[in-house]
Amino acid sequence: MTALPHTSELRRIDGGQHGAAVLRRRAAELEAVFDALPDGLLIVDTEGQVVEANRAVIGLLGLRRKDEVLGPITQILRPRVTCLDGSPLALADLAGYRALRSGRVNRAEVRVEVAPNKRDRPSTTRVLELTASPVHDPDGSVVGAVIVTRDVTLERQRAHEAAFLAEAAELFDSSRDLGTTLTDFVERCVADFADWCSIDLYDDVAKVLRPAAAGHREAGAAAPFAAALRRRPLRVGEGFSGAAAAASSAHTLFDLTDAAIGRYARNAREATLIGRLGVQSLVAVPLRAESGLVGVLTVGSARPERRLDRQTVGLLHTVARRIAASVERERRAEGLAHALGRLETAFDSMADGVVILDKARRVVLTNAVVRRMFGLNADPVGWSEERLVRRTARCLEDPEQAKEMLRADQARRAASDGDRVAGDLHRLELRVARPRRCDLERVTTAMWGPADDEDDPDAERRDEVVGWVTLYRDVSHIRDAQRVKNEFVLGAGRELRQPLTAISAYAVQGLRKARQVQADRSIVRGLEVVLRNARQLTVLVGDLLEAERPDVARQDLVLAQLDVLALVAQAVDEARAVTTLHRLRVDAPVSMPAAHWDSDHVRQALINVLTNAIKYSPDGGQIGVRVRPHSDGVLVSVRDRGIGVSPDQLERIFERFYRVVDGPARQRVRGSGLGLHLVRTVVRAHGGAVWAESTGEPGQGTVVHLLLPWHAEV
Ligand code: ADP
Repeated sequence: MTALPHTSELRRIDGGQHGAAVLRRRAAELEAVFDALPDGLLIVDTEGQVVEANRAVIGLLGLRRKDEVLGPITQILRPRVTCLDGSPLALADLAGYRALRSGRVNRAEVRVEVAPNKRDRPSTTRVLELTASPVHDPDGSVVGAVIVTRDVTLERQRAHEAAFLAEAAELFDSSRDLGTTLTDFVERCVADFADWCSIDLYDDVAKVLRPAAAGHREAGAAAPFAAALRRRPLRVGEGFSGAAAAASSAHTLFDLTDAAIGRYARNAREATLIGRLGVQSLVAVPLRAESGLVGVLTVGSARPERRLDRQTVGLLHTVARRIAASVERERRAEGLAHALGRLETAFDSMADGVVILDKARRVVLTNAVVRRMFGLNADPVGWSEERLVRRTARCLEDPEQAKEMLRADQARRAASDGDRVAGDLHRLELRVARPRRCDLERVTTAMWGPADDEDDPDAERRDEVVGWVTLYRDVSHIRDAQRVKNEFVLGAGRELRQPLTAISAYAVQGLRKARQVQADRSIVRGLEVVLRNARQLTVLVGDLLEAERPDVARQDLVLAQLDVLALVAQAVDEARAVTTLHRLRVDAPVSMPAAHWDSDHVRQALINVLTNAIKYSPDGGQIGVRVRPHSDGVLVSVRDRGIGVSPDQLERIFERFYRVVDGPARQRVRGSGLGLHLVRTVVRAHGGAVWAESTGEPGQGTVVHLLLPWHAEV
């Protein structure tokens, strides 16, 4: 390639005495180099006259011949060039003009409307970047300017597309309502990017694509085609969008012909409607999410300068991913709402009341049953657990049970913090007085789920309590039946007790007499059998009564002034009546102040302790009953010389149904593990205490102490 002659060399050639042929050759070489440049080049003199232009700039300006470019620059540019926003070009906007005036490099961007010609499609719009550099002579004065003209249409389009993409991403990421977002997107797409845009969503039940949003640059132009699709939706594989739905990637027609329209339209009318959209290039991208196909995005361009190409397809794929994710999110949310609705219907048709609390102990769900049980008019969703418990407690026969509920819930929570099993289940019985009288069983259980560790998503997944479920079961029918049975058993037990006591007493008396008069052996043995069986029956009836009797509570006590020594004597007499092997000795002061107790319950408690002393001293012996006034009340201690209790069992023998099993001597004694439990509940209801002492050595026996305050209060 011939080197471009330097300006100084040209001047030297021009100024010297070389021939015209050399000059012409150099000029032709220069022109050839100019024309080979990919960018457009204009040279203007100080008057603003274009004196030179290369082939590229002639094409960029939509001209055919070089002489069309030569002349005053304003006259050449003005008819075909505008500012970017379409406003007419002023002299001051011309980069070349500014370079001439300021003597510095100047840049400007302009829009060129290129008139239709045979080769090009109708008319196109181009964006040109003009860079004008002043040309100085050796003295430094500006003698002209060189304007380099570059077609930046594609670059600007890409930048525009990237901005559109960013906007679309934001639109879908912040989407609240899918329908509105899709319509917004389509509107922006036809305003900024394409001429026609449609989004069809896949209905996987009917297996068709249903139009969700469609738009055209010319308002209303998309409606007839969209309406036709709504009437008869596309199946997968059908039409242009349907073909994309069947494919795994984009379906493209960069040059849409009537023949292609005919191929994709399902009938002649549809072909006409598609034709009316006026699109020349078309791209359809399937919307695919994790769950599979969710729809199709179709975009068409009616302008040749905006012809869709491979790069647009890439961009549309990115947008499609956003749309698909958004559709999937919405569908999941819909599915969840649907499932929740079904769950609520199921909960409402349950026989039990249900309350679900979240981790923060706020009510997230209640069913109609529980709201009816406690007469709740408003749905307590969002209430704190405490507020709900206090409100429900108003309906209880004993509103104090609210404390019990909250205490139990706190204990359960504390336990569940560390221990899954301990915190899992808690039962409580409630008596509801209003709006409808009923007995409820309240069962609370923890819900466990994987911990959501927001701070550290990589943290090892562990289970934690994510909420609480409380069930309220109406157990009125069970409790009613139990009450009837209890009353019957208690009535029958009491009826049996009296004759049994009489039988035992007469048998003891008879036996004593028979032994005194040395009566016939068969009579003595007969009386012994009567006494043994009567005793066994008494124990059985006692156990039956105890088992049916609910725990004695403070409010059950019938308190009255009473003579402590007389009460102890009565109990000892009753105990004496059932034994011939033991000697019962009372060690008490001559007189004592009166106490304020429930006489029946305290006597029964004393009888239970004395009966144990007799039962667990199978070889007989002395049983000492010591009564002492005490600063806190009266201390009654019963000492036997029997088989004893091992020290580690001394606490447990007061538990309901607890029996020690440690050897044949004890196993021969019948019992139910209820006697000492009743003793403890009676003593506690009076505000007193009970405890036992024993070394566990056989023959050393046991001492049981009852400490009762002088004055019990309800
Ligand atoms: P039970 O019906 O079994 O006697 P209690 O509640 O009265 O039930 O007593 C619980 C357990 O405590 C008994 O099974 C017995 O083993 C033990 N026990 C109670 N009193 C005595 C005692 N005086 N001597 C030895 N063991 C006793």
